[in-house]
Amino acid sequence: MHLTLSLLPLAALTLILAGCSSGPYDRLPERLGFRDAPAVTESGNGTVTVSGNGHTVTLTPGKRPATVDGVTYYLHRAPGPTGLGEADTRLLKAALEPSPGIDRPLTIVVDAGHGGRDSGCRVDRTSEKTINLCIANALADTLRGRGHTVVLTRAKDETAVTLEERAVIAASHPTDLFVSIHANAAANPDARGIEVYTLPAPGHDGTAANSPPRPGLAGHIHLPWSTRFALAIQKAMLRAEPRAADRGVRHAHFKVLRDTPAPAVLIETGYLTNADDRALLTDPATQKRLAEAVADGIEAAL
Ligand SMILES: [Zn+2]
Repeated sequence: MHLTLSLLPLAALTLILAGCSSGPYDRLPERLGFRDAPAVTESGNGTVTVSGNGHTVTLTPGKRPATVDGVTYYLHRAPGPTGLGEADTRLLKAALEPSPGIDRPLTIVVDAGHGGRDSGCRVDRTSEKTINLCIANALADTLRGRGHTVVLTRAKDETAVTLEERAVIAASHPTDLFVSIHANAAANPDARGIEVYTLPAPGHDGTAANSPPRPGLAGHIHLPWSTRFALAIQKAMLRAEPRAADRGVRHAHFKVLRDTPAPAVLIETGYLTNADDRALLTDPATQKRLAEAVADGIEAAL
Protein backbone atom coordinates (compact mmCIF):
# COMPACT_ATOMS: atom_id res chain seq x y z
CA MET A 1 0.00 0.00 0.00
CA HIS A 2 1.39 3.39 -0.96
CA LEU A 3 1.38 6.14 1.60
CA THR A 4 -0.41 9.05 -0.04
CA LEU A 5 -0.18 12.60 1.22
CA SER A 6 -3.82 12.59 2.30
CA LEU A 7 -3.19 9.60 4.57
CA LEU A 8 -0.35 11.20 6.49
CA PRO A 9 -1.17 12.05 10.10
CA LEU A 10 -2.25 15.65 10.43
CA ALA A 11 0.70 16.66 12.60
CA ALA A 12 3.20 15.32 10.05
CA LEU A 13 1.36 17.04 7.23
CA THR A 14 1.48 20.35 9.09
CA LEU A 15 5.23 20.01 9.54
CA ILE A 16 5.70 19.36 5.82
CA LEU A 17 3.51 22.33 4.90
CA ALA A 18 5.22 24.60 7.41
CA GLY A 19 8.50 23.74 5.74
CA CYS A 20 7.15 25.09 2.44
CA SER A 21 6.13 28.51 3.81
CA SER A 22 7.47 31.65 2.20
CA GLY A 23 8.97 34.62 4.04
CA PRO A 24 6.27 37.31 4.19
CA TYR A 25 3.59 34.80 5.17
CA ASP A 26 5.53 32.79 7.78
CA ARG A 27 3.90 34.53 10.73
CA LEU A 28 0.49 35.10 9.12
CA PRO A 29 -1.26 32.16 10.86
CA GLU A 30 -0.10 33.57 14.20
CA ARG A 31 -1.15 37.14 13.22
CA LEU A 32 -4.59 35.80 12.24
CA GLY A 33 -4.89 34.06 15.60
CA PHE A 34 -4.62 30.53 14.16
CA ARG A 35 -3.25 28.40 17.02
CA ASP A 36 -4.78 25.06 16.10
CA ALA A 37 -2.85 23.34 13.25
CA PRO A 38 -1.44 26.56 11.71
CA ALA A 39 0.00 26.05 8.23
CA VAL A 40 1.14 28.02 5.18
CA THR A 41 1.43 26.58 1.68
CA GLU A 42 2.41 28.23 -1.57
CA SER A 43 1.28 26.83 -4.89
CA GLY A 44 3.22 26.94 -8.15
CA ASN A 45 1.32 30.02 -9.36
CA GLY A 46 2.19 31.98 -6.22
CA THR A 47 -1.15 31.57 -4.44
CA VAL A 48 -0.66 31.34 -0.68
CA THR A 49 -2.99 29.31 1.51
CA VAL A 50 -3.01 30.04 5.23
CA SER A 51 -4.96 27.71 7.48
CA GLY A 52 -5.63 26.98 11.12
CA ASN A 53 -8.46 26.89 13.69
CA GLY A 54 -10.61 25.22 11.00
CA HIS A 55 -10.32 28.26 8.68
CA THR A 56 -8.64 28.63 5.28
CA VAL A 57 -7.57 31.95 3.72
CA THR A 58 -6.21 31.99 0.16
CA LEU A 59 -4.23 35.01 -1.09
CA THR A 60 -2.79 35.83 -4.51
CA PRO A 61 0.08 38.37 -4.50
CA GLY A 62 -0.86 41.46 -6.53
CA LYS A 63 -4.59 40.70 -6.48
CA ARG A 64 -7.32 42.04 -4.17
CA PRO A 65 -9.78 39.14 -4.35
CA ALA A 66 -8.96 36.51 -1.71
CA THR A 67 -11.01 33.62 -0.41
CA VAL A 68 -11.97 33.15 3.23
CA ASP A 69 -13.43 29.72 4.00
CA GLY A 70 -14.40 29.44 0.33
CA VAL A 71 -16.06 32.86 0.11
CA THR A 72 -14.60 35.70 -1.95
CA TYR A 73 -13.29 38.62 0.13
CA TYR A 74 -11.86 41.77 -1.45
CA LEU A 75 -8.74 42.79 0.43
CA HIS A 76 -8.18 46.50 1.07
CA ARG A 77 -4.73 46.18 -0.52
CA ALA A 78 -3.41 43.44 -2.78
CA PRO A 79 -0.76 41.40 -0.92
CA GLY A 80 2.72 42.69 -1.81
CA PRO A 81 6.31 41.79 -1.00
CA THR A 82 5.63 42.31 2.71
CA GLY A 83 2.61 40.03 2.73
CA LEU A 84 -0.90 40.85 3.92
CA GLY A 85 -1.57 44.47 4.92
CA GLU A 86 -2.25 45.56 8.49
CA ALA A 87 -5.93 46.50 8.01
CA ASP A 88 -6.86 43.21 6.38
CA THR A 89 -4.90 41.19 8.94
CA ARG A 90 -6.72 42.96 11.79
CA LEU A 91 -10.18 42.59 10.21
CA LEU A 92 -9.77 38.96 9.17
CA LYS A 93 -8.45 38.08 12.63
CA ALA A 94 -11.57 39.63 14.16
CA ALA A 95 -13.83 37.89 11.65
CA LEU A 96 -12.31 34.44 12.19
CA GLU A 97 -11.52 34.36 15.90
CA PRO A 98 -13.66 32.11 18.09
CA SER A 99 -16.93 33.68 19.17
CA PRO A 100 -16.44 36.15 22.01
CA GLY A 101 -19.91 35.13 23.27
CA ILE A 102 -22.55 37.70 22.41
CA ASP A 103 -25.67 38.19 24.53
CA ARG A 104 -28.89 37.41 22.67
CA PRO A 105 -31.35 38.59 21.56
CA LEU A 106 -29.88 41.24 19.27
CA THR A 107 -31.49 44.48 18.17
CA ILE A 108 -31.22 44.51 14.38
CA VAL A 109 -32.24 47.36 12.08
CA VAL A 110 -33.41 45.96 8.73
CA ASP A 111 -33.37 48.53 5.93
CA ALA A 112 -35.24 47.88 2.67
CA GLY A 113 -33.37 50.06 0.16
CA HIS A 114 -35.24 52.82 -1.76
CA GLY A 115 -39.07 53.13 -1.63
CA GLY A 116 -41.93 55.30 -2.88
CA ARG A 117 -40.85 57.58 -5.74
CA ASP A 118 -37.33 56.13 -5.51
CA SER A 119 -37.69 52.76 -7.27
CA GLY A 120 -33.99 51.90 -7.26
CA CYS A 121 -33.09 49.99 -10.41
CA ARG A 122 -35.93 48.91 -12.70
CA VAL A 123 -35.99 46.15 -15.31
CA ASP A 124 -39.20 45.55 -17.27
CA ARG A 125 -41.89 45.66 -14.61
CA THR A 126 -39.58 44.67 -11.75
CA SER A 127 -38.58 47.44 -9.33
CA GLU A 128 -35.71 47.02 -6.93
CA LYS A 129 -37.66 48.76 -4.12
CA THR A 130 -40.27 45.96 -4.21
CA ILE A 131 -37.73 43.11 -4.16
CA ASN A 132 -35.88 44.82 -1.30
CA LEU A 133 -39.07 45.22 0.73
CA CYS A 134 -40.12 41.57 0.24
CA ILE A 135 -36.73 40.25 1.38
CA ALA A 136 -36.48 42.79 4.24
CA ASN A 137 -39.92 41.88 5.57
CA ALA A 138 -39.11 38.16 5.31
CA LEU A 139 -35.82 38.79 7.15
CA ALA A 140 -37.65 40.74 9.87
CA ASP A 141 -40.17 37.91 10.30
CA THR A 142 -37.39 35.31 10.50
CA LEU A 143 -35.33 37.28 13.03
CA ARG A 144 -38.36 38.03 15.22
CA GLY A 145 -39.28 34.34 15.07
CA ARG A 146 -35.82 33.59 16.49
CA GLY A 147 -36.36 36.02 19.36
CA HIS A 148 -34.44 39.07 18.09
CA THR A 149 -35.74 42.64 18.23
CA VAL A 150 -36.16 44.09 14.73
CA VAL A 151 -36.61 47.70 13.68
CA LEU A 152 -37.61 48.24 10.05
CA THR A 153 -36.65 51.55 8.41
CA ARG A 154 -39.73 51.07 6.21
CA ALA A 155 -42.36 48.31 6.31
CA LYS A 156 -44.24 49.44 3.19
CA ASP A 157 -43.69 51.25 -0.08
CA GLU A 158 -42.99 54.81 1.05
CA THR A 159 -40.83 57.73 0.01
CA ALA A 160 -40.47 59.46 3.33
CA VAL A 161 -37.31 57.73 4.65
CA THR A 162 -34.13 59.48 3.50
CA LEU A 163 -30.66 57.93 3.67
CA GLU A 164 -29.85 60.27 6.59
CA GLU A 165 -32.95 59.10 8.47
CA ARG A 166 -32.07 55.44 8.01
CA ALA A 167 -28.81 55.97 9.91
CA VAL A 168 -30.65 58.12 12.50
CA ILE A 169 -33.09 55.23 13.09
CA ALA A 170 -30.10 52.97 13.80
CA ALA A 171 -28.64 55.60 16.13
CA SER A 172 -31.89 55.95 18.08
CA HIS A 173 -32.01 52.27 19.09
CA PRO A 174 -29.47 50.05 20.90
CA THR A 175 -28.56 48.66 17.47
CA ASP A 176 -26.29 45.61 17.35
CA LEU A 177 -26.41 45.35 13.54
CA PHE A 178 -27.76 47.38 10.61
CA VAL A 179 -28.59 45.34 7.49
CA SER A 180 -29.47 47.17 4.29
CA ILE A 181 -31.10 45.12 1.52
CA HIS A 182 -30.61 46.06 -2.15
CA ALA A 183 -30.60 44.51 -5.61
CA ASN A 184 -28.11 45.43 -8.30
CA ALA A 185 -28.06 46.44 -11.97
CA ALA A 186 -25.34 46.56 -14.63
CA ALA A 187 -24.99 47.42 -18.31
CA ASN A 188 -23.57 43.93 -18.84
CA PRO A 189 -26.49 41.46 -18.67
CA ASP A 190 -24.06 38.65 -17.77
CA ALA A 191 -23.11 40.35 -14.48
CA ARG A 192 -24.73 38.39 -11.65
CA GLY A 193 -24.24 37.29 -8.09
CA ILE A 194 -24.43 38.25 -4.43
CA GLU A 195 -22.25 40.95 -2.84
CA VAL A 196 -22.09 42.00 0.81
CA TYR A 197 -20.55 45.42 1.48
CA THR A 198 -18.82 46.89 4.50
CA LEU A 199 -17.32 50.33 4.87
CA PRO A 200 -13.66 50.43 3.72
CA ALA A 201 -11.09 50.50 6.53
CA PRO A 202 -9.77 53.96 7.51
CA GLY A 203 -7.24 55.27 4.99
CA HIS A 204 -8.34 52.81 2.30
CA ASP A 205 -10.39 53.19 -0.85
CA GLY A 206 -13.40 51.09 -1.77
CA THR A 207 -13.48 48.10 -4.05
CA ALA A 208 -14.79 50.12 -7.01
CA ALA A 209 -12.86 52.88 -8.80
CA ASN A 210 -13.25 56.49 -7.59
CA SER A 211 -13.92 55.59 -3.97
CA PRO A 212 -11.13 57.45 -2.13
CA PRO A 213 -10.56 57.14 1.62
CA ARG A 214 -12.73 59.23 3.94
CA PRO A 215 -11.51 59.97 7.45
CA GLY A 216 -13.40 59.93 10.72
CA LEU A 217 -16.55 57.98 9.86
CA ALA A 218 -18.94 56.69 12.53
CA GLY A 219 -18.84 53.19 11.02
CA HIS A 220 -15.04 52.80 11.21
CA ILE A 221 -14.91 51.68 14.84
CA HIS A 222 -17.42 48.88 14.14
CA LEU A 223 -15.56 47.40 11.15
CA PRO A 224 -14.29 44.23 12.87
CA TRP A 225 -17.88 43.18 13.63
CA SER A 226 -19.15 44.43 10.26
CA THR A 227 -16.55 42.22 8.55
CA ARG A 228 -17.45 39.22 10.72
CA PHE A 229 -21.16 39.62 9.90
CA ALA A 230 -20.47 40.26 6.18
CA LEU A 231 -18.40 37.10 5.68
CA ALA A 232 -20.87 34.93 7.60
CA ILE A 233 -23.86 36.35 5.67
CA GLN A 234 -22.18 35.92 2.25
CA LYS A 235 -21.27 32.33 3.13
CA ALA A 236 -24.79 31.48 4.37
CA MET A 237 -26.52 33.01 1.33
CA LEU A 238 -24.31 31.11 -1.13
CA ARG A 239 -24.90 27.88 0.76
CA ALA A 240 -28.68 28.47 0.72
CA GLU A 241 -28.85 29.32 -2.98
CA PRO A 242 -26.28 27.32 -5.00
CA ARG A 243 -27.56 28.93 -8.23
CA ALA A 244 -26.28 32.31 -7.04
CA ALA A 245 -22.78 33.51 -7.93
CA ASP A 246 -20.19 34.70 -5.38
CA ARG A 247 -19.21 38.31 -6.13
CA GLY A 248 -17.65 38.62 -2.73
CA VAL A 249 -17.50 40.74 0.38
CA ARG A 250 -16.61 44.22 -0.89
CA HIS A 251 -16.13 47.72 0.51
CA ALA A 252 -17.89 50.98 -0.37
CA HIS A 253 -18.57 54.37 1.21
CA PHE A 254 -22.34 53.97 1.00
CA LYS A 255 -24.01 56.65 3.13
CA VAL A 256 -25.84 54.18 5.38
CA LEU A 257 -22.53 52.41 6.08
CA ARG A 258 -20.66 55.68 6.72
CA ASP A 259 -23.13 57.14 9.19
CA THR A 260 -24.54 54.16 11.09
CA PRO A 261 -22.97 54.06 14.59
CA ALA A 262 -23.14 50.24 14.76
CA PRO A 263 -21.86 47.24 12.81
CA ALA A 264 -23.41 47.62 9.34
CA VAL A 265 -23.57 45.67 6.09
CA LEU A 266 -25.28 46.33 2.76
CA ILE A 267 -26.35 43.26 0.79
CA GLU A 268 -26.71 43.35 -3.00
CA THR A 269 -28.86 40.23 -3.37
CA GLY A 270 -28.36 39.85 -7.12
CA TYR A 271 -28.62 41.63 -10.48
CA LEU A 272 -32.07 42.48 -11.82
CA THR A 273 -30.39 43.03 -15.21
CA ASN A 274 -29.42 39.34 -15.33
CA ALA A 275 -32.22 36.97 -16.36
CA ASP A 276 -31.14 34.15 -14.01
CA ASP A 277 -30.76 36.44 -10.98
CA ARG A 278 -34.04 38.20 -11.81
CA ALA A 279 -35.87 34.86 -11.88
CA LEU A 280 -34.44 34.03 -8.43
CA LEU A 281 -35.16 37.41 -6.86
CA THR A 282 -38.75 37.63 -8.09
CA ASP A 283 -39.56 34.14 -6.74
CA PRO A 284 -41.21 34.43 -3.27
CA ALA A 285 -39.78 31.07 -2.13
CA THR A 286 -36.25 32.19 -3.04
CA GLN A 287 -36.77 35.56 -1.35
CA LYS A 288 -37.74 33.73 1.84
CA ARG A 289 -34.81 31.31 1.57
CA LEU A 290 -32.34 34.17 1.07
CA ALA A 291 -33.85 36.05 4.03
CA GLU A 292 -33.48 32.95 6.22
CA ALA A 293 -29.89 32.60 5.03
CA VAL A 294 -29.13 36.19 6.07
CA ALA A 295 -30.53 35.37 9.52
CA ASP A 296 -28.42 32.18 9.60
CA GLY A 297 -25.33 34.21 8.73
CA ILE A 298 -26.04 36.78 11.44
CA GLU A 299 -26.39 34.04 14.06
CA ALA A 300 -23.31 32.16 12.78
CA ALA A 301 -21.23 35.27 13.47
CA LEU A 302 -22.25 35.46 17.12
ZN1 LIG B 1 -30.31 49.90 -4.36
